[in-house]
Amino acid sequence: MNDNRELLVEVKDLKTYFFLDEGTVKAVDGADFNIRRGETLGVVGESGCGKSVTARSILNIVPKPGKTVAGEILYHRKIKGAEQTLDLTQMAPQGDEMRGIRGAEIAMVFQEPMTSLSPVHTIGNQIGEAIRLHQGLDPDTARDLAIKTLSLVGMPLPERTIDQYAHQLSGGMRQRAMIAMALSCHPSLLIADEPTTALDVTTEAQILTLMRRLQDELGMAIMYITHNLGVVAQMTERVVVMYMGKVVEQADVDTIFYDAQHPYTRALLQSIPRLGQKTHDRHRLASIKGMVPDPYALPKGCAFHPRCGAVKPGLCDQVEPTMVEIAPGHKVRCHLCANRA
Ligand code: SF4
Repeated sequence: MNDNRELLVEVKDLKTYFFLDEGTVKAVDGADFNIRRGETLGVVGESGCGKSVTARSILNIVPKPGKTVAGEILYHRKIKGAEQTLDLTQMAPQGDEMRGIRGAEIAMVFQEPMTSLSPVHTIGNQIGEAIRLHQGLDPDTARDLAIKTLSLVGMPLPERTIDQYAHQLSGGMRQRAMIAMALSCHPSLLIADEPTTALDVTTEAQILTLMRRLQDELGMAIMYITHNLGVVAQMTERVVVMYMGKVVEQADVDTIFYDAQHPYTRALLQSIPRLGQKTHDRHRLASIKGMVPDPYALPKGCAFHPRCGAVKPGLCDQVEPTMVEIAPGHKVRCHLCANRA
């Protein structure tokens, strides 16, 4: 797919490891992908595949004992019309410049709003604080802007909600408040990490519609992390599929759904529940054959080989496949595609 939009973030050979007493977990082990201005990129995979750690690496908030040990995250920003490129991996996590980017230029919403909303400050104080900090506005102007932002995200009675605490709001309202906080400074990239997983289906649909509308209005890019391919189909233009810390396939969303080449992507697609399936079948089908490997002892060769229906013994269990671009914008890491470049 030809996309002329400017690059916003380039993740290059990113490696973020966790050094634990039991051994080293290579949570992200050589991830490569780009995000363009204004696009929605889906990042999918099962729990523990490295999606969230990749997001936290971009924001430079990897919790200890995790550390980005190699690679680059190039962030292309515009400051008063001038272009600037920063490698976020080289910036001090708590330095002024990184804190100025985090929250203002690159913002994040999480699955559980209570992890980012303070229980002891009103919603208005928290949004107003973010606005004052990043935009240098006086308290009254910041409060007005906070009310406008709450109204933008469809919060009922924003003038009243602004003086409420997070525990006084429903799950959907808390999620709206967190999105309002993330959007209050008009970020160029919003990282959304499973933001609707904890919500009921109706509220989830409302939040997804809201995010699409806000993206149209504000023109920001969204990196949407999820294990739910139904959400990917609704929300994203391009998709990165991760397995055990590596990107195994990436392509535009139609190619992923209609012409996926990696056996893992195909298995994920087969695990989507279909209309008419009984609920107990859905739970059974929403998983892929075999277990996710022990992160301390990844299999040799292709990490997916113990679960792969197309495994080539003697090759897949010995040699790690490399990423190959089999068509413009369609990249696959699998021996089956090795000669299709
Ligand atoms: Fe399956 Fe081999 Fe491809 Fe891995 S490299 S996904 S084991 S066919």
